Amino acid sequence: MRLIFLGPPGAGKGTQAQILEQRFGAKQVSTGDILRENRKQGTELGQLAESYMNSGALVPDEVIIKMIEAELAKLSSGFIMDGFPRTVAQAEAFDALLDEHGIALDAVVLFNADRETLVTRLTARWTNPRTGRTYNSVTNPPRTAGMDDEDGGPLVQRDDDKPETVAKRLDVYDTQTAPLVDYYRRGGKLVEIDALAPVADVTAQLETKVGARAAR
Ligand code: ADP
Ligand code: AMP
Repeated sequence: MRLIFLGPPGAGKGTQAQILEQRFGAKQVSTGDILRENRKQGTELGQLAESYMNSGALVPDEVIIKMIEAELAKLSSGFIMDGFPRTVAQAEAFDALLDEHGIALDAVVLFNADRETLVTRLTARWTNPRTGRTYNSVTNPPRTAGMDDEDGGPLVQRDDDKPETVAKRLDVYDTQTAPLVDYYRRGGKLVEIDALAPVADVTAQLETKVGARAAR
């Protein structure tokens, strides 16, 4: 299974990538999680990314492309790209990389959701920084507030999930990432799903619409 999850912040890409990873063994590659881990470790990459992430802007393309090249080299089976590519330049570079490795994508999944829902979801998101697993204080609360159901670890609210940064990130999606919808539609790879449905329904849509393609 080789997929790209495309869609605005808060659409549920990470939630579904983690479910499909457990079910089908395709590895979730979240560029946001990789960058956050680098910031935690204080690496050069993490320091470089910090100001962009805090303001809700995108990290420069060349930095992200180098990062993905390194990730792709580590992948032996399938993948789910979660939050990458986010610009046409990243998509073109990724196409070239896939060609080089003789890898074909099964599908690019577009998560459709409206802005109001996205703002509500992001401002209520709670994340386990160790695993990237997310909860939602409104739609999907943990059994004990502030604590991960699986590993008991503390849940935090991401700095960039503050309302003013959320607004900026959604604007950045509209201007810099949304053009990828046409890019992949032209390539005949785009599959659209209704991301407003409950988590289990979204998973069912993915299994029906993407499972068939991946099995080909
Ligand atoms: P993304 O990775 O696209 O930014 P997440 O998967 O982190 O989005 O989801 C954003 C927030 O919305 C999280 O708090 C998550 O628990 C919640 N969420 C995800 N999918 C759904 C859904 N289908 N219905 C309601 N809430 C959802
Ligand atoms: P995410 O966890 O996907 O919401 O990403 C959090 C932040 O990391 C974004 O707001 C960007 O600053 C940065 N980021 C993650 N992925 C990318 C990418 N593919 N290109 C540029 N910046 C990215």
